[in-house]
Amino acid sequence: AAAARAAAKSASEGGPTIFDKIIKREIPATVVFEDELCMAFRDVNPQAPTHLLVIPKERGNLSQLSKAQEDDKSMLGHLLYTANRVAAQEGLDKTGYRVVINDGVEGCQSVYHLHLHVIGGRQLTWPPG
Ligand code: ADP
Repeated sequence: AAAARAAAKSASEGGPTIFDKIIKREIPATVVFEDELCMAFRDVNPQAPTHLLVIPKERGNLSQLSKAQEDDKSMLGHLLYTANRVAAQEGLDKTGYRVVINDGVEGCQSVYHLHLHVIGGRQLTWPPG
């Protein structure tokens, strides 16, 4: 948790991120869904049996949720809709699951390219840390 906080603090908010390299297939990822607007792949450090990330292919304003503008609304809807699609693809629609967006330093965001975490496959607890 301390490491995640440190990463969140040091992450830059402007430049390209590791997710650009995943989109361009320059580094490997296990992609489970893709369409013209977004991509879903497995988190490299899973916090549950299923842990996927859903990201827009074009980051635009969306380095983080708190930078969203009016004209990002359809993309935001598409990402949330896709989160449920990939959850269902993993069988999580029958058990329940969680969708999380970490925003900024206090949200422990470490990659400044908007991403929805889709987490499930075990009983989750609340509140988060
Ligand atoms: P946190 O690191 O605190 O979870 P974020 O919400 O920004 O902050 O999440 C970034 C996520 O990206 C992390 O869950 C991390 O494991 C994941 N990640 C980082 N690099 C890769 C990668 N190359 N492939 C897949 N997932 C990655």
